[in-house]
Amino acid sequence: TKEVNGAKMEGVAERVVNCGSRILVFVRLRPMSKKEKEAGSRCCVRIVNKKEVYLTEFANENDYLRLKRLRGRHFTFDASFSDSTSQQEVYSTTTAELVEAVLQGRNGSVFCYGATGAGKTYTMLGTMENPGVMVLAIKDLFTKIRQRSCDGNHVVHLSYLEVYNETVRDLLAPGRPLVLREDKQGIVAAGLTQYRAYSTDEVMALLQRGNQNRTTEPTRANETSSRSHAILQVVVEYRVKDASMNIVNRVGKLSLIDLAGSERALATDQRTVRSIEGANINRSLLALSSCINALVEGKKHIPYRNSKLTQLLKDSLGGACNTAMIANISPCNLSFGETQNTLHWADRAKEIRTKATEANEELHQVPESETDQAKLLLELQKGN
Ligand code: ADP
Ligand code: MG
Repeated sequence: TKEVNGAKMEGVAERVVNCGSRILVFVRLRPMSKKEKEAGSRCCVRIVNKKEVYLTEFANENDYLRLKRLRGRHFTFDASFSDSTSQQEVYSTTTAELVEAVLQGRNGSVFCYGATGAGKTYTMLGTMENPGVMVLAIKDLFTKIRQRSCDGNHVVHLSYLEVYNETVRDLLAPGRPLVLREDKQGIVAAGLTQYRAYSTDEVMALLQRGNQNRTTEPTRANETSSRSHAILQVVVEYRVKDASMNIVNRVGKLSLIDLAGSERALATDQRTVRSIEGANINRSLLALSSCINALVEGKKHIPYRNSKLTQLLKDSLGGACNTAMIANISPCNLSFGETQNTLHWADRAKEIRTKATEANEELHQVPESETDQAKLLLELQKGN
């Protein structure tokens, strides 16, 4: 523990500063639903230990050891959360360090990635009884601010917005689509509500209401938001004394993102490339993966302009930013294909990070069109 600006900082904060912009990749398995159990669904995923996941088409919890010999695959991540992992543990492992970094004037972002129904919204927003990462992050932020009130005045602003079909909407004040503008601070959504938050109590209700404003697809009326991305931006502004005792303003921004369902953007075999090209690809989801690739590879040109989502996340992804990805998966054998896709992509994202300094021609390509991006994704999944 050391003193910084009169506040005690744990070792965790130092680690944040040192880890740069590498992406941490986590996996969270959701429990089998009652409906799935009643339908006699089998479980095809097993969390082997705190880091390892095992996926097999014929998995059955009871004969894991026997089935291990059958075809199946192990994946290793920064952490793998079982279906009984608490919201608090997911928050502490994936996001707490980023909240600490935001208080030091750094940006951070956490994405939930996975197919519709895999548990993204549960992880990010949660329920009243079991609040998720968004709410726990804000709660923790207020606690930390109180603990170091000697740092100066902290002002916390929240914005909650949606990107659907390349249209940006304010989830706290639904109305006409917002226009993205470039200003001194970067890309901003003009007219976006900046909600000044004073306590956690008000935040959960606010976010729940905002979530109800998310776009529902007409063809999937019972499922909200399978193609909409929800972004919570938490901006912390505060004043500190610099080395020469001048008072300076510091701003840290945390973006917590509940991404659209990945099922339409991902495909495993060549036959599906055509349907990807034909379907209305989620441009933002593909653009995001291109940007992450380019950032991790240290490319000069990062294709932020390819989509609304990546424009909005420009300052959260690049520069002084920490990024975490939570891949959400279902245990159900009927979702095997989607789970496999999610794990392959999450695994690849993790590998790219560790290969950041190695030359790898394929990964250096920055795709310009959606088709190229779709092909790149397929290649990544095949592990080329
Ligand atoms: P997504 O946002 O990825 O489409 P949801 O978060 O809506 O998926 O999850 C689908 C269903 O599964 C919801 O009813 C949700 O409450 C439940 N669920 C997801 N993850 C968990 C979990 N870890 N524990 C308990 N219930 C979960
Ligand atoms: Mg959802």
